[in-house]
Amino acid sequence: MTPKTVTILGSTGSVGVNTLNVIREHASHFRVLGLAVSSNVETLSAQIEEFSPKAVYLEDAAAADTISRKYAGRVKVFTPQDTLKSFSAYLNADILVAASSGTSSLLSVMGALRAGKRVALANKEILVMAGSLVMECLKNNPASSLIPVDSEHNAIFQCLQGQSVNDVKKLILTGSGGPLRETPEKEFQTVSKETVINHPRWKMGQKISVDSATLMNKGLEIIEAAWIFGMPVEKIDVLIHPEAVIHSMVEFQDGSVLAQLGVTDMRLPIRHALSHPERFSAPSMSLDWTKIHSFNFLSPNRQKFPCLDLAYAVAKQSGSAPCVLSAADETVVRAYLDDKVHFLDIPRVIEKVLSRHRHVSRPNLEEIQSIHAWAVEETKKCCGAV
Ligand code: NDP
Ligand code: MG
Repeated sequence: MTPKTVTILGSTGSVGVNTLNVIREHASHFRVLGLAVSSNVETLSAQIEEFSPKAVYLEDAAAADTISRKYAGRVKVFTPQDTLKSFSAYLNADILVAASSGTSSLLSVMGALRAGKRVALANKEILVMAGSLVMECLKNNPASSLIPVDSEHNAIFQCLQGQSVNDVKKLILTGSGGPLRETPEKEFQTVSKETVINHPRWKMGQKISVDSATLMNKGLEIIEAAWIFGMPVEKIDVLIHPEAVIHSMVEFQDGSVLAQLGVTDMRLPIRHALSHPERFSAPSMSLDWTKIHSFNFLSPNRQKFPCLDLAYAVAKQSGSAPCVLSAADETVVRAYLDDKVHFLDIPRVIEKVLSRHRHVSRPNLEEIQSIHAWAVEETKKCCGAV
């Protein structure tokens, strides 16, 4: 058996490290060709030592220089001058794992799909930013595939195997409700950053942790699901399920509901996305049913978490609106993490930027890129004015 080659964008992040954990467990099935990061020299060095990639990419020039000197002759080092897209294209791996934060992986993902490769997609922001362009690449290249790594979408993908999308009544995206589910709204005024970024069920990067606290993560996931499964947003529901054991469900026209359940561990969807259509053995992933005493379900509180309705409205508007939503969210969350705005400013700033944007119904790549850049700048201005 020839091992599948893998390139990971965001290898030092939460999903990236878990991807390498899965690859380590199935070393004979995979060979790591490339690793891309922003600036984390220490973790990347350890990954280079262990996985011997052919090339690495670093967004930070000084960090790239350090790695170049440390591993001269052992690994080819790409920098922003070469672009992340050219790094991925140079390696042309069988599987591209898109797990960097934000939208930097967009062109790499489109390139991999055009080359007929598999994309294991964690990076939901790129589908929110440019879903129609990504899905067009997938459609036009029958050898390519896009397997979702986001646990909800991976669950739905599994539930839809052998089913017809025409038979689907609705997709039910579950969510734990985030760290503020039980916090009274009036306490949001004084909520600490530690509380916001400490998710009760999943250990994740900072941006997605803040998105989970505002429920914007679920909002982005509605748009992500609409693109991946070709489903109108009216047929996508959000259901809060604090135990996070049911990772999402599909209800069919005849009333049958299929769900995917499992441990709350990102290695589960990552392993599936890498091995599909096979299933690799993972003894440590078994659910202990005796420890699950109840399943709870409740509707999301839309007044307390206005980001969810913002995302629904944007999803219905489609066109350039989701790109603005994603850029504004990414920028205001950065500002929040840098203590420049308050937690309650997050939805306010996003709403303001959305209201200022001039809608384009079918933006092409250049338009998407310039709308994204406009939204980032506009959000920075709004953050400065709060
Ligand atoms: P992290 O913040 O933990 O990691 C981000 C990774 O991306 C790091 O390796 C970082 O490098 C790298 N990176 C950042 N910018 C660039 C860039 N311009 N070029 C190359 N690499 C870059 O994020 P997560 O792993 O939590 O999330 C990654 C993606 O997966 C997000 O889109 C998120 O929404 C999605 N996701 C995450 C889940 C999770 O459980 N964490 C679940 C479902 C989806 P460095 O370390 O050097 O900063
Ligand atoms: Mg998710």
